[in-house]
Amino acid sequence: MNLLELVDPNATNGVTLVRDKGALRAALAPARRESSSIGLVPTMGYLHEGHLSLLRSARAECDLVVMSLFVNPTQFGPGEDLDRYPRDEERDLRLAAEVGVDVVYAPEAEQVYGEGFATHLEVEGGLTDVLDGDPARRGPEHFRGVTTIVAKLFNTVQPDVAYFGQKDAQQAAVIRRMVRDLDFPLRVEVLPIVREPDGLAMSSRNAYLDGEARERATTLSRALGAAERLARTEGIDAALAAARAELSAAGIEPEYLEARDAETLTPAAELRERPVLIAVAAQVGGARLIDNVLIRP
Ligand code: AMP
Repeated sequence: MNLLELVDPNATNGVTLVRDKGALRAALAPARRESSSIGLVPTMGYLHEGHLSLLRSARAECDLVVMSLFVNPTQFGPGEDLDRYPRDEERDLRLAAEVGVDVVYAPEAEQVYGEGFATHLEVEGGLTDVLDGDPARRGPEHFRGVTTIVAKLFNTVQPDVAYFGQKDAQQAAVIRRMVRDLDFPLRVEVLPIVREPDGLAMSSRNAYLDGEARERATTLSRALGAAERLARTEGIDAALAAARAELSAAGIEPEYLEARDAETLTPAAELRERPVLIAVAAQVGGARLIDNVLIRP
């Protein structure tokens, strides 16, 4: 195989765009030969400052930075937004180049899930059938889709460090569990939520919010802020009640608003020695939004 045929000739500003595993292997070969450290940032694209914060950390800490760009169909439920998920590969490549990404791996779905694909990786129970994974919501299949694609990316890229956002707190907890349980030889870094100036957690799905809904969407972070202020002094129940009142005043009925142990995701009725995650999901206008706050004792 000839590397020039494999590496996309549209490479801009030093970013190499690869679309298949062979090209990825070729692009990573020099780094592997030199034992350079490799950082991986998995994304579904339509980049915003949340993604860029992960990429900048990877750039600062690793010799070679790989960003995957793949809207993974298997983590979308039947009624979800796979078809209309926002995409702008050209802009993503430009932004990736600006923050110093070396390689963008943007495969087609057929490349990732070849004919006869039949193997999945599942973190069972507890972590994956609550909150977003509750069968009444996205269901554990969502996380099965996430862990399977992330495990595949870990195997193809073989990073030393993989970067994820606290925005998807449950996803981060599930991936940490997977890495520990299956001895993936890498370090998982989970970085803080990046927000708009008015508090809205950045998300590619914010593109679905029109004027009124965009305004109302700020309620989620305000509600979590109220909960955070009360949790230490008045307790978890009072914190959740305050958050629920904020949401309700804005006409938002959350899919869930819950306090859970940040690592195990078991229900947390009190703030004791361990950090508590207060997580919310709600439909606001055309977007299903999630947000959370981590409360340390
Ligand atoms: P996505 O493209 O939505 O799959 O996100 C890719 C990665 O970026 C995931 O690890 C997310 O948790 C992370 N991420 C998304 N939004 C934010 C945000 N507002 N702040 C920090 N990280 C984020």
